[in-house]
Amino acid sequence: MNSNLTGTVAIVTGASSGIGEATALRLAAEGASVALVARRAERLEALAAQIEEAGGTALAVAADITDRARAEAAVQSVVDRFGRLDVLVNNAGLMLLGPVVGADVDEWERMLAVNVQGLLYMTNAALPHLLKAADDDPRRVADIVNISSIAGRVAWANYGAYNLTKFGVNGFTESLRQEVTKRHVRVGVLEPGGVATELGSHNSGAMLDHIDDFLASTEVLEARDIADGIAYMVTRPRHASIAELWVMPTDQA
Ligand code: NDP
Repeated sequence: MNSNLTGTVAIVTGASSGIGEATALRLAAEGASVALVARRAERLEALAAQIEEAGGTALAVAADITDRARAEAAVQSVVDRFGRLDVLVNNAGLMLLGPVVGADVDEWERMLAVNVQGLLYMTNAALPHLLKAADDDPRRVADIVNISSIAGRVAWANYGAYNLTKFGVNGFTESLRQEVTKRHVRVGVLEPGGVATELGSHNSGAMLDHIDDFLASTEVLEARDIADGIAYMVTRPRHASIAELWVMPTDQA
């Protein structure tokens, strides 16, 4: 087992499926104790067992991060259990597509709550612990990786509210990077293109057809491809910060 993250503690949000699940497995293999945050407790428990069976350390923390108190309690429970926090991967997200004209405003609110507010709550709760870890052995550096999207770089019709959340994540990430980087908390954004996960499955009708057509016609990324990128970002030497990583399927123009 590689020991790049030995002695560190990482939180991965959205660890019950897709990119978050693959990232938790990867960071555990790098030696981090990994806290798994999402709502589906059974999936988190199964993943924690898988990590422990492979010789790693994991803690399942069932929480809805759109609830500020639950997000804060989730971070606190990790620090209570492991005594520190070195890495936060803000990965949990929701992509509900459709026209702005006649939009389902409830869907907008659900998406903003996860992609924006949840990320803010987790970041706010984690920062004091990350700043402390950045002053401490074994690495004297700490990390936040925010999972944005190609939709944080490029806007398309029918992606309006999702574009809003991901462009927002990019702006927030760079602002926070400038604020804390000299205190050795590295803050970076990773923007995936298409990845084979459950993300699109929450859509319906024409939007689900659009996603299915894309998936059928493109050799998309696997979740572990994004986990590779996240592992790269958080295992750089202390003096090197990856502020942005854009990971695309070769097959996606
Ligand atoms: P998945 O749908 O597989 O994963 C989303 C995760 O977010 C799930 O684990 C889900 O867990 C969690 N989640 C959703 N709502 C909440 C909530 N309220 N509280 C806590 N956790 C929550 O999709 P991906 O793995 O693809 O998505 C991960 C990230 O990658 C997202 O931010 C997405 O926008 C981004 N991304 C994905 C791309 C793709 O093509 N797949 C492309 C570009 C970016 P649970 O339901 O158990 O709470």
